[in-house]
Order: sequence, then C-alpha cells, then structure tokens
Amino acid sequence: MRGAGGPTIIPPAHGRVAPRIGTVAAALIDALNAIQRDHRACERCVTAGLLERAHPVFSGRAGQRILLVGQAPGPVEDDVTRPFAGRAGAQLMRWFASAGFGGADEVRARVFMTSMTTCFPGRLSNNSGDRRPSAREVALCSDWLDAYLEVVDPALILCIGTLAHSRFLPGRRLEEIVGRAWSVEGEPIDGVPQVSPALLPLPHPSGQSRWLNDPGHVRMLDRALERLRELARWAQSTGG
Ligand code: SF4
Repeated sequence: MRGAGGPTIIPPAHGRVAPRIGTVAAALIDALNAIQRDHRACERCVTAGLLERAHPVFSGRAGQRILLVGQAPGPVEDDVTRPFAGRAGAQLMRWFASAGFGGADEVRARVFMTSMTTCFPGRLSNNSGDRRPSAREVALCSDWLDAYLEVVDPALILCIGTLAHSRFLPGRRLEEIVGRAWSVEGEPIDGVPQVSPALLPLPHPSGQSRWLNDPGHVRMLDRALERLRELARWAQSTGG
C-alpha cells in the first residue's frame, strides 16, 4: 500500500494468528524503519494549514504483538518525543501494572504506541485542555496508522479513548464496549481469540475524562484490565 506521500509496506497476514517463531524478518524491520523515518518527517497538517508545527510522536519496533492507539500526544509527549509520558501516561502505566506488566519499561518494550493523530494539536482556546484533533487531521494521519497496522500486524490492538474507539468500533458507546474484547468485525470475543487482531477498548486515562467517576464504569475498567492480563499473554504467544 502507498498513501499520498506515504509509506510503502509489505503484505500483512490478516485474519489468522500468524506465529513468528523467535525472529523478526529483516524485511519487516526494514519496512517498519522506512515508515517511521517518513512518519518523523511528515508535515501534511502544516502544509494543509491545520498545524503551525509538526512533531510526530510514536514509539515501537518490529515484533511487538500489542499495538496501542491513543488520541493524540499532549504537551509533555511533545516535549520528550515519547507517547504517554505525562500524567495520563502515568495513569495508563498503573493500569498496565494492574494487568500484570512489570513497569513502564516493560510496557514500552512490549507495546507499539501510536495515536489517531501523532502531532500535539495544541491547547483549547480557553486553555481548559488539549484540543481534540479535527476530522481532517485524523484523515491526513490515517495513512501512518494504516501502515503500522499492516506492518506490525499486531495480535492485540488497545484502543484508548473515544476517537480511537470511533475508528475501530464505530457507533458504540463506551459503556457498551469497555470490559470485553472484540473482533475487528465488532463481535465480542470471550476466551482465547481464534483470529487476530483482537480489539480491547479502554477509556482515556486523562484526568479530563469524567467517565471513571461512575463506580460502575470503574468495574468495567477492572474487567478490561483482567482481559488485558489474559490477552497480553495470548498476544505474546502468537510470535515476536
Ligand atoms: S498529525 Fe500526522 S499527518 Fe498531521 S503532520 Fe503530524 S504526523 Fe503528519
């Protein structure tokens, strides 16, 4: 696939669990390196007059079996060029820890991290929070996400926040989807997935989100993290 000014990528193995016994193919590493190099140089939103400055933030390497899709980097992530490096990231790392991950280093070693748009969109005009990326920005950035989904070919996709949910499980309310795993066709997956990728939606860990003020929603998150514990083990068993 080649997007407008976008990456060239190698064919994926969708619709099945594809073990990669121990090693990551050199062609896969080369393809991913090429995409990441082009992604770092992307200025599409600046050219389109949507951003004053481009600074793509993402992290990951070939062989990772879990791919996380957030909304967009914030100012801290922009400063340090690392996804989920701020307060929301600290909360996300606590969620991973409760799902059995050993700490932030282990999370970053096992999880490819990107987002619906990968440049900091800036603050809201009233300074009450970060601006939600526009539909045009999401559309312009979608080639990069598409490319990562094909080349990384993750077994498990973690969708963080409503913008990511709207891409992977469109038309569903958070209350309907958090706590279970889903197929890309939107069917619930109980037990061990028979196909990959499996989707696992999580609410956004940002303090701006009030969704977790409801105790019932906290219980849904607990179920989601228990599912993450199971699915992370399963994802690892599919190769890498
Ligand atoms: S948000 Fe995405 S498409 Fe827009 S400039 Fe940044 S990397 Fe490019």
